[in-house]
Amino acid sequence: MSPIDWVVTAKDGRARTGILTTRRSVIETPVFMPVGTQGTVKGVRFEWLENELDARIILGNTYHLFLRPGPEVIRGIGGLHKFSTWNRSLLTDSGGFQVFSLTDLRKLTEEGVEFRSHIDGSKKFLSPEISMDVQAALGSEIVMAFDECPPGDAGHERTKQSLELTLRWAKRSKGRFDELQKVQSAGFSPYPTEVRASVEIRDESRTLSGNQALFGIIQGAGHLDLRSESLERTVEIGFDGYAIGGLSVGEEKPVMYGVLDHVAHKMPADAPRYLMGVGTPEDLVEAVYRGVDMFDCVMPTRNGRTGGVFTWSGKLNIRNAQHATDSAPLDADCSCSVCRRYSRGYLRHLYQAGEMLAATLISHHNLAFYLDLMRRVRFEIKAGSFEMFRRNFLERISTTEK
Ligand SMILES: [Zn+2]
Repeated sequence: MSPIDWVVTAKDGRARTGILTTRRSVIETPVFMPVGTQGTVKGVRFEWLENELDARIILGNTYHLFLRPGPEVIRGIGGLHKFSTWNRSLLTDSGGFQVFSLTDLRKLTEEGVEFRSHIDGSKKFLSPEISMDVQAALGSEIVMAFDECPPGDAGHERTKQSLELTLRWAKRSKGRFDELQKVQSAGFSPYPTEVRASVEIRDESRTLSGNQALFGIIQGAGHLDLRSESLERTVEIGFDGYAIGGLSVGEEKPVMYGVLDHVAHKMPADAPRYLMGVGTPEDLVEAVYRGVDMFDCVMPTRNGRTGGVFTWSGKLNIRNAQHATDSAPLDADCSCSVCRRYSRGYLRHLYQAGEMLAATLISHHNLAFYLDLMRRVRFEIKAGSFEMFRRNFLERISTTEK
């Protein structure tokens, strides 16, 4: 009995499809999770994510919500689902990555990390225990262990030290998490009536218990021996799922693919495998090929705000003059509501005129593309033709407009 249910439904090489069930939604994997940094997927309404894009799970950032509006505000309102009205699954990160990437004046100790808020410069402190408390207040279905993220180019010794700290923090995360779940599970119904209707229970005999699931994070930068050690010792602690952290932090692509080649297929087969913060459409396909099930990345919405468009024939930049009089949609192979209605010429005009709708529409299309890509990937794995799809796809999308 677990707060999540996970089954593999098909395999093609190392690639696999599966069904992840939480108390709030049934999620087919491989899955891309849109990033809802501050309780919102930037520029995109939840109605669209639910009804048109059919996103079953999104990500929330503990760091941002911890600083603003603060866990006490969200807890007071009844959790992030109630606060934001997003009723499907949520995964929250631990805050570790943002503390190490966004803030100055960090003081790292065994206990945790002291840092200055990027909003007002005030002193803040995060530890494994505080991160678990905040994620419990947010009420996400999947909670991430608190980890240290060393720089991508960290040497062997520095990475080893970081790994040891991350493992000690993983144990502390789990200890606190288990205590919190005991408190929370008193009187808890695994399928709250308000969400029961939206959850298609795949098999009524498999019941979920408990509230939140906890994922451990494998670190080790580009050092394969440390990745192996991190995997082995993280699995020993025992989590509901496992993530690969510390990739896509500026290292070369071959380093990332090398780590995935080395570690992804050795992660427990009976738990979801999540590659954190990755990546481009090519990265997603390459990681699925190596055995990964879950992804998140700000790229579709961040690029959407700067005019970057993902399509089935490569990336284009809507700011380029060549699109000014183009009556074609962003992507002739996309059936999203933006592509069905608006032209490249009009979207370029909105972008050039600084209209906020430009960012919204392009972000919407980019998310539609990412979620469609994952649908296609699942289809190809089930059909046993994923390898052929992968080769064709990588060739097809190799063009990029600057
Ligand atoms: Zn589209």
